[in-house]
Amino acid sequence: MKNPSSNSENLRDRIGARESSPPLEAGLYVVATPIGNLRDITLRALDILATASRVYAEDTRVAMKLMDAYGLKPKLGTYHEHNAEAMRETILEALEKGESVALISDAGTPLISDPGFKLARAVIDAGHRVFPIPGASALLAGLVVSGLPTDRFMFAGFLPPKQGARRAAINEVADADATLIFYETGPRLAESLADMAEVLGSRTAVVARELTKMFEEARRAPLAELAAHYAEAGAPKGEIVVVIGPPEAKGEVSDDVLDAFLLRALPRGVKEAASEAARDLGVPRKRAYQRALDLKDRP
Ligand code: SAM
Repeated sequence: MKNPSSNSENLRDRIGARESSPPLEAGLYVVATPIGNLRDITLRALDILATASRVYAEDTRVAMKLMDAYGLKPKLGTYHEHNAEAMRETILEALEKGESVALISDAGTPLISDPGFKLARAVIDAGHRVFPIPGASALLAGLVVSGLPTDRFMFAGFLPPKQGARRAAINEVADADATLIFYETGPRLAESLADMAEVLGSRTAVVARELTKMFEEARRAPLAELAAHYAEAGAPKGEIVVVIGPPEAKGEVSDDVLDAFLLRALPRGVKEAASEAARDLGVPRKRAYQRALDLKDRP
C-alpha cells in the first residue's frame, strides 16, 4: 500500500481528523478500511479510529500501516478467528464500562468474509449499540466494474477448496436470478472457473483483480473462456473477485418441451438430465430435477 502522504501530521490537519473531540458514545464501531489504495477511507472512519477508546484489528502489523499513514496512535488489540471467543468477553466488559470500541479487518469492511459477525451479535444481545462506519468492500468494487446487472446480486463469499463441495456450493446458487459474486484466490482461480462453467453454463463473467491498486484489471469473457485463459496463463497474482451474470431469461418453457428434453437426456441419469435442462433451457434446476424424477418412474 502506498503511503498517501509523507507528512501524516499535515494530512491529519488537512482532513480535520478530530483527535481532540469529546469521547464517542459507547458501542461497537464497525469501521471499513481501504482494500488497496490507502486513500479509500472516509473522514469519519479516521475520526473514529482517532477517538475510540480501543481499536481491535485482525493483524496489528497490517493495521499499523494504516495508522502510521494517518498519524493515528490508537490503543490497539487483536480480534481474529483464533482469539475471538475470549476477546468477545473482553470487548463486552469494555462496553459495560462505557467505552467505544472500533473493529477493523485487514482490508475492506469487517464481517464480510472477515471476523466480526459473532461479535456484533453478542454486542447487540448484550444491549449495546453497533455503529456502521461504511466504506470500501471488494464485492461492491468488483460488481461496479463488472458491467453486469447490479439490480439484484448475490454475494457467496469464498467457495470450498475441494471440488465436490465447491460444485455443490455453486449448484446451490445456480438458480438465483441474480448476478453472483465470489471471492477467490489466484492458485484456485482456474479450477473454480472451470467448475463454474460446468455448473452454470456459458454465462458472461468478470475476473476483477487488484482493485484500487497499481495492477488493477477486469477481464470479461464467458466462464469457459476465462477458465481456459487462467489454466493456460497460470495462477494470477493478487486479490480477486469473480462476478458472474444472471441466467439468461429464455422465456417460459412448457412442460411438453421440458419432458421431451428430459426424455432424451435421462439415459445419462436424473441429476445429469436436470443439469442439462437447467443449463440449456434455462428452467429452474429444482423444476427440472423434480420432472426428471417423475419421468424416470413412469412405466
Ligand atoms: N472484508 C473484505 C471486504 O470487505 O471486501 C474482504 C476480506 S476477504 C478475507 C479477502 C478477499 O477479498 C480477497 O481474497 C479477495 O477475494 C477480495 N479482495 C480484497 N481486496 C481486493 C482487491 N483489492 N481486489 C480484488 N479483490 C479483493
